[in-house]
Amino acid sequence: MLHGIDDVENWLQRLGRDAIGLDVEYPTVSGGRTRRIYLDSAATTLRLKVVQKVLDHYQPHYANVHSSLHFAAWISTREYQWAHDMVLEFVGADPKSWMCFFVGNGATSGINRVARTLRAHRPARDVVVTTAMEHHSNDLPHRKHFREVVHVPTEVTPSSLGGVDLAKMAAALQAHEGKVNYVAITGVSNVTGIINPVHEIAAMAHRHGALVVVDAAQMAAHIPIKVSGHPDATRDLDVVVFSGHKLYAPGSPGVVIARKALFAEMEPDEVGGGMVETVSLDRYTVSARFPDREEAGTPNIPGAIGLAAALYALKKVGMDRIAADEDQLLEYALRQLAEVPGIVIYGETSPSLVRRAGVISFNLADCDHAFCAAVLNDYFNIAVRNECFCAHPYVRDMVTMSLEGVADSMSNDELEHLAEMHRGMVRASFGIYNTTADVDRLVAALKDISRRGDELLALYERLPNGDYRHRQFAFDTMKEFSVRSKVDSLLGD
Ligand code: PMP
Repeated sequence: MLHGIDDVENWLQRLGRDAIGLDVEYPTVSGGRTRRIYLDSAATTLRLKVVQKVLDHYQPHYANVHSSLHFAAWISTREYQWAHDMVLEFVGADPKSWMCFFVGNGATSGINRVARTLRAHRPARDVVVTTAMEHHSNDLPHRKHFREVVHVPTEVTPSSLGGVDLAKMAAALQAHEGKVNYVAITGVSNVTGIINPVHEIAAMAHRHGALVVVDAAQMAAHIPIKVSGHPDATRDLDVVVFSGHKLYAPGSPGVVIARKALFAEMEPDEVGGGMVETVSLDRYTVSARFPDREEAGTPNIPGAIGLAAALYALKKVGMDRIAADEDQLLEYALRQLAEVPGIVIYGETSPSLVRRAGVISFNLADCDHAFCAAVLNDYFNIAVRNECFCAHPYVRDMVTMSLEGVADSMSNDELEHLAEMHRGMVRASFGIYNTTADVDRLVAALKDISRRGDELLALYERLPNGDYRHRQFAFDTMKEFSVRSKVDSLLGD
């Protein structure tokens, strides 16, 4: 069925408007309750109401998928299978040669599984090339399972600051010719939002007989992914991993999309019920079917169905359209944030030089990132995240580079103080529901903090773990929500 521009506009508006938690209110230091502004989607997105409603409708039919003896099991099995079809369709992966399967704890579980499987698949290729800008989840699994992991540095030239250095990546592949199993690369950085040229990297890896594994945890909700069908087939992606909690779905189902051939030749990494054809006391035969062979045990059925509902809804709007809208919002945010006195935004900020998606990280001069994030929360009800976002090396590099030049004119004490305050960043991250009004609230709050930082700082105590606590204001989480009191009230205590 063909849909017009009006339909797309309408769906986009509805998805954006209808996220759960957009209208939640909390008390602030300034007094009264205000609507919270959510700028923490890079950690976890809010859920779309449409997804929750689909799950509510599904609940009566909930049953295990590993039997087909009754009606609810038929429904659950069919929809769970369809969730896989939806994932492949969403990322443009040809189902003839690619398959996908769900795993437990988000993208992290997926990348661990991929590392174990690809090491076993080609044990002689015992080197992984990755970058210095990865989330720990796309670094430590490779370190654990391979003899050597090469971290390609990021660009230091101002006009491409923060992106991966492709010349150094080519050199790393050359230096380890014949040994590199795969290049593991994030599609979008969770620190700067910088988008990496994953297809160019795929072609480069393939020239050296290496595979490409894309960590799409920050990519999937923001820009279109096209795994297969490129006119130049060397640009196709071998493996892509992401998770539901950054894609407007509940829980954290992880998803691995991979070429079937990579997983078909070996015994699956996990074994148990659901993935075998026959079992006797002395042998068993593994199912030849995907995804069954990779999904031992009872899967997270509602998690997969919720994620598929979100993907279907996003696909109706079109990821191109979503990306174009988010580009505009990010450009607006970068322009407005640049007006905040003393702000340092990390990574190249000109969208025409380096493209970003969903994320902007920054620091204010003379302002500890943890203090800034605390004031944004306590006074302005703006939810951001601070510190190193599980990407310590990259954050350290970006902060150090931003201090170069400034450092020359400082005494040692001043430099140490600055380095201490900037041992992390504040991150504002965006989703389908954020608007320019949210950006305006953030910018106004940051201008206020930069104006009266000292006055506010006197009202805070710095805790041993580096967090800041307001001396007079306390937020009572139990008053807002507790499972026990909810059960009590629902059951009529
Ligand atoms: N990679 C990136 C780039 C991320 O941002 C994250 C989550 N912050 C992960 C991997 C890990 O994802 P998950 O929390 O779903 O395991």
